[in-house]
Amino acid sequence: MKTIRRIIFACITIWVLAVTVAPKYDKQINAIFEKVLGPYHHEDKDVNTEELSTWNDTENDITPAPKNSLEVTFIDVGQGDSILIEDAGKTMLIDTGYWDAYDTLKQTFSDKGIERIDALVLTHPDADHIGAAEDIITHYQVGMIYTSVADSDSKTYQYVQDAIELYNVPVNYPQAGDTMQLGNAVYEWLGPVNDVDDTNSMSLVLKVVNGNDSFLFTGDMTGKEMKDITGDMSADVLKAAHHGSANEGCNSSELFDRVKPEYAVISCGKGNRYGHPHKETMQEIKERGIKCFRTDEQGTISCTSTGNGIVWSVEPTTDYHNGSSEK
Ligand SMILES: [Zn+2]
Repeated sequence: MKTIRRIIFACITIWVLAVTVAPKYDKQINAIFEKVLGPYHHEDKDVNTEELSTWNDTENDITPAPKNSLEVTFIDVGQGDSILIEDAGKTMLIDTGYWDAYDTLKQTFSDKGIERIDALVLTHPDADHIGAAEDIITHYQVGMIYTSVADSDSKTYQYVQDAIELYNVPVNYPQAGDTMQLGNAVYEWLGPVNDVDDTNSMSLVLKVVNGNDSFLFTGDMTGKEMKDITGDMSADVLKAAHHGSANEGCNSSELFDRVKPEYAVISCGKGNRYGHPHKETMQEIKERGIKCFRTDEQGTISCTSTGNGIVWSVEPTTDYHNGSSEK
């Protein structure tokens, strides 16, 4: 009888301790268990949900593309930039052109069966780069926005900010040196390095490496920004900075020396009021024997990288005239 009473008393004591004391020392008890049994996975309430929402949430509804196949489309949006990357079923759109480029983007996505942009990169807040971003955010599922810390007091910028807030799109501000993966390729953010008071010099500069093939996307990067970049800028394909401008050290000899591109792509509008691309840029490209593509003369241009070579949708242009000269 005594033994039974002792057992009941012990059970009640354990139960009381479990209910009252254990929760207070939850962490300590877990630590003791971990020490004895080895670490186990905690349910971490502080987990960064933004990071988790980047690439993993569409894995089940994509058709896998051939391994290492990366398609880059330089969309003809007139004066401005908009570049679509399709990387093993994932999509990245670098800039959107002006607001009136939306119809062209919509048509491009529809032709390709794209309903979601996994990564929307807004290199800097100028209207020829973010103009159609409000419409993209409104009409497409956007996984993550990558953008420069530079802001603007323009209405266009405000509309984009409102759309980001309304549709609750996560925003990431990459730092120089950050890398990430989208599909198969590796994406490395090279710039901006310093925070300066000039939107062009705050352009996100992105290098994409797919096997042995590489691309450098420069936004409207100036010579000043380029000089601050310490990362490896060498690439097979250079998206010429600032629509082929030669002002502010854009597309200088130094840039071509550092990138050593085999191909250069210029995204600009035919007859644009800035005279893009400038004469000095075209001279550099011609003299160095770089194969050149330009949206003002050839419209939308695309290429496919196999990881071991790049195949283009059109022949390179032999037209090196600058934007302000008669042909
Ligand atoms: Zn621009």
